[in-house]
Amino acid sequence: MNSQSPLSLPIICQCQCGQAKFSISKLPLTFYACHCTECQSQSASAFGLLVWVERSAFNYSGNVKTWSRDTASGGRMDCHFCPDCGTRLWHESNSPDPVFGKIVSIKGGSIAAMRKLQPVRHIWTKSKHASTVIPKNVLNFPNGNIDAKALVDAWKHSLLPTKI
Ligand SMILES: [Zn+2]
Ligand SMILES: [Zn+2]
Repeated sequence: MNSQSPLSLPIICQCQCGQAKFSISKLPLTFYACHCTECQSQSASAFGLLVWVERSAFNYSGNVKTWSRDTASGGRMDCHFCPDCGTRLWHESNSPDPVFGKIVSIKGGSIAAMRKLQPVRHIWTKSKHASTVIPKNVLNFPNGNIDAKALVDAWKHSLLPTKI
């Protein structure tokens, strides 16, 4: 872990009104930005920030509501949000994939410490908002390219101390 990393455990986060709180007891597996139209719809903003965490390292308190949708791969995704203020908090799917099936995908804007870290990839940039500029030093994929292992490896590499 890079000594300059702003992440210290447990990572504590909450919705906009503070009613729903959650904590993360292990370092995230990856952090990336998605410019697909689903992320634009769910966030009502330009793109989604996704922080993957092992489900076993994730705990929440307070009330959440769940809305589910079909995924492109034929599964279901549960999308959890605060019923009071409406903040979307995390997603999880019933995917049989060895990585996707074991993670929760937290909405990155709810974790204050992520403000100081670079997403390792920007995906679905072909549908990005015209005003969004992708940094030149970050991998940029016009399409989905959801290779779970590659996303996790890229994040690990970005945290190596030799990167300084
Ligand atoms: Zn709330
Ligand atoms: Zn997306």
